[in-house]
Amino acid sequence: MSTGSTQAGTPAVVDEFNPFQAMAQRFNVAADHLGLDAGIRDVLRTPDRELTVSIPVLMDDGTIKIFTGYRVQHNFSRGPCKGGIRFAPDVNLDEVRALAAWMTWKCSVVDVPFGGGKGGVICDPRELSQGELERITRRYTTGIMDILGPDRDVPAPDVNTNEQTMAWIMDTYSMHVRRTTTAIVTGKPLLLGGSRGRTEATGRGVMLVTREAMKKLGLRPEQARVVVQGSGNVGGIGAMLLHREGYKIVSISDMYGSVLNEKGLDMPAVLAHLKQHRRLEGYKEAQHLSNKDQLDLDCEILVPAATENQITSANADRIKARLVVEGANGPTTVAADEILESRGVLVVPDILANAGGVTVSYFEWVQDRAGFFWTEEVVNSRLEQIMTSSFAEVDRVAREHSCSMRIAAYILAVDRVAKVYKLRGIYA
Ligand code: NAD
Repeated sequence: MSTGSTQAGTPAVVDEFNPFQAMAQRFNVAADHLGLDAGIRDVLRTPDRELTVSIPVLMDDGTIKIFTGYRVQHNFSRGPCKGGIRFAPDVNLDEVRALAAWMTWKCSVVDVPFGGGKGGVICDPRELSQGELERITRRYTTGIMDILGPDRDVPAPDVNTNEQTMAWIMDTYSMHVRRTTTAIVTGKPLLLGGSRGRTEATGRGVMLVTREAMKKLGLRPEQARVVVQGSGNVGGIGAMLLHREGYKIVSISDMYGSVLNEKGLDMPAVLAHLKQHRRLEGYKEAQHLSNKDQLDLDCEILVPAATENQITSANADRIKARLVVEGANGPTTVAADEILESRGVLVVPDILANAGGVTVSYFEWVQDRAGFFWTEEVVNSRLEQIMTSSFAEVDRVAREHSCSMRIAAYILAVDRVAKVYKLRGIYA
């Protein structure tokens, strides 16, 4: 993974593994299709605001340790910024910038009234106690709270953060503003104003776009073997929902390794093992293999649902899948895109495929502000309507512009944001 940082908005040397540059390269292709002028390109490519904070934390052993946190607000022309917060040792500013920009495009693809933001803290949660995690979360929230707010910027969970993290953020923010403000975050526990269906929403969205892509390819679920990279919120739940729809999940992984059963994994049993042991290692009804080998397995569908830069120029020609559904953000590099496209592999891009999460986050924000909560059936059916119609829109644009679904999703998204600038104008 690249740890380099570019000057926001002006990528110089192209680094295959720099996610912000990858975002900018795809943005440029979409902007060419749209004939956007140079000024508006610069505005849309450049993050609106970036904040870096030092987070001093009292550790369990009595020492003080400083962590670094970021919050990037890429664009708030369509509404408050929306985007997750991740805790990981390799978090860096270009990654957070890319993730924030992808949120702008993602919210625009599914047409929810948000801009894009993202946050991250450089830390390794595996080495931290619950108390230390809570103190990091609260101090980070305090550090960035001047730019947060239900009408400004609304965080959500991402890698290594969860409902509990959101509960701490909600409480910290509420204590400072002297009123309980549930709409400050999404992905909260139900008891604190969370939405039914939010935990499953990204995985459900992955399942729904897979269904639409399969129709496009003329394939049925029972004809499809699926390989899933990652078994967290997106991969684990996505695999379970695909399994319920009749797909054969032949392999799934976590950061330590992969399991394979060519007859199809018993997904409830795999997830029960994972819950109990916190890793797939030791699961008996399967072969075990390395993560590197997993991506080359024979299958019809590959769902990368772990992290960035997994399908690259080094392995794209070995991918056997006919369909790649990007549960993760940025799992495929630009160089790999070209290889997959030349080989006729259909890629449902991240900014469409994993937009189920932000769609139900939008529902959660609406419910919190209205103080009126929906049933799970209502949430799921509205999600289904948005995911299937967004897939159809992206597919239509792809045919219109004779381009990949990825570039089509960017064209659709960038066009909507550019039109907002045209209508609002550039102030002063
Ligand atoms: P998570 O922390 O719940 O799970 C991540 C999973 O990936 C874990 O199983 C972990 O062991 C595994 N993993 C990490 N590195 C790996 C590697 N190199 N090889 C194989 N497995 C590896 O995170 P998540 O919320 O499921 O997020 C996964 C991806 O989906 C991220 O790119 C995130 O930005 C994206 N995403 C998440 C949501 C959401 O609602 N949670 C929404 C949209 C996009």
